[in-house]
Amino acid sequence: MSASVPLEPAHVVAVIGAATSGSEIARILAERRATVIVFEQNPRPYGKIEDGLPRWHVKQRRDEYEEINKRLEHPNIHYVPLTRMGRDIDFAELRDAWGLSAVVLTNGAWRDRPFPVEGADNYVDRGLVYQNPLIYWFNHYPEATYDGPRYELRPGTTVVGGGLASIDVVKVLQIEMTLQALKRRGIEEDMLKLEREGLAPVLKTHGLEYANLDVAPCRLFYRRRVLDMPLSDIAPDAPAKRAEAMRQARAKILDKAQRKFLFEFQELSVPTGLVVEGDRMVGVMMSRTEAADGKVRTIPDSAKPVRAPMTISSIGSIPEPIPGIPQRGEVYQYVDAAVGLLMEGRTGIYAAGNVLTGKGNIKDSLVSGTEIGIHVAERYLGLSGDGSGVPFTDAKREEAHLEGLRMAASINAREPVGGAQVAEIMKRVRERQQAVGYAGDYRGWIKKVTPPDLQ
Ligand SMILES: Cc1cc2nc3c(=O)[nH]c(=O)nc-3n(C[C@H](O)[C@H](O)[C@H](O)COP(=O)(O)OP(=O)(O)OC[C@H]3O[C@@H](n4cnc5c(N)ncnc54)[C@H](O)[C@@H]3O)c2cc1C
Repeated sequence: MSASVPLEPAHVVAVIGAATSGSEIARILAERRATVIVFEQNPRPYGKIEDGLPRWHVKQRRDEYEEINKRLEHPNIHYVPLTRMGRDIDFAELRDAWGLSAVVLTNGAWRDRPFPVEGADNYVDRGLVYQNPLIYWFNHYPEATYDGPRYELRPGTTVVGGGLASIDVVKVLQIEMTLQALKRRGIEEDMLKLEREGLAPVLKTHGLEYANLDVAPCRLFYRRRVLDMPLSDIAPDAPAKRAEAMRQARAKILDKAQRKFLFEFQELSVPTGLVVEGDRMVGVMMSRTEAADGKVRTIPDSAKPVRAPMTISSIGSIPEPIPGIPQRGEVYQYVDAAVGLLMEGRTGIYAAGNVLTGKGNIKDSLVSGTEIGIHVAERYLGLSGDGSGVPFTDAKREEAHLEGLRMAASINAREPVGGAQVAEIMKRVRERQQAVGYAGDYRGWIKKVTPPDLQ
């Protein structure tokens, strides 16, 4: 627990963001006897598992919460909740004044990529809604104590996107609109049942059809062909036949989702203008595109108005800029992206998980956490495992672990932080923990800050 702080020399690493990748890195370092401080902006450490992965993934979310808890309760890990880097802690100060061995950024990708029409952001929440806050609302609004922004979903909404998350957005819309339509008829239905079985079969049990609900379906627009939708990964070295089969699989995934959730889809379309009335955005000008050789070209003079009471932008999430971290375009600039190295120096700065991979999935964040965690622990700090860690459950992570052990055999360890400096660092940590009311009992804290009706 946080009380048993060694004042012996130790490697001390700060991890920014406590979720899938952050908790994995913290565990790897802690098992190798580093002192790990995990800063998390929220009270709970679950990141996009809680606020992104839609709440119909009931069991998966609970299982992932517990995996994160198990990793973070290691006695060498000092959890510091309600602490946002860039607001409560200054990055330059953390890097230059704390005297840490390393900082690892596992802060995910929380900024929605800007809607690609100039001036659109003037209409946020006045016709334009971004995916991240919308899904946050969907995951949390049933909680009795929820006091965040609320969204009133409307029939005939436009969704601009194309990836898996945008399919989740149209599912949210179609399910919620159907629940509302049923409620207006005095029927209470179950969100989970609609998600599991699809709209038509559930409506049928009430003697209804979607067409009679008087709810215009939402429409998903994608700028490339359906076959290009990133709904399944195609390895860059996949043989042509296999790549084609995977592309056809994408069309099948979309078709299945459409049949189940009854939304409309339009490929080869890109927003190029806004339709504005008064102080509201009431639609977009949608242009046609041509896709060839992996490139998309907007066809001139093809724009037509697509009116909608709400337009949802679901075109990807990017890392939030942090003052002091060099940026290249939408992403951070790396010295060596293969090992997540952002900045060299006395305190090395690394990144892992979604912020590094750009891939929005749990497995990739976990594998990245394992790889970068082992690299930082064994190659950068010279800490080897004692074999007592949690066994890896999949081959890719086991492979990363073995690679780390091979690296460890050939490294020069960095000097640990001196005992007096460790005490200084821990004093700062304790002060911050006290300021946010965290007394050092991880499980006790989680119990205190978890609403009883969190899903
Ligand atoms: C709608 C949607 C559906 C999805 N569906 C799936 C799915 O079906 N399957 C799947 O595998 N994946 C899915 N994902 C993606 C998956 O949930 C994420 O990619 C993965 O959980 C990211 O893990 P991470 O640890 O890299 O980042 P995150 O979970 O984003 O963790 C980052 C952490 O850092 C914290 N943080 C951020 N900034 C700061 C700061 N400045 N200071 C301190 N703390 C900070 C955050 O609060 C968070 O706890 C989905 C995502 C979305 C949005």
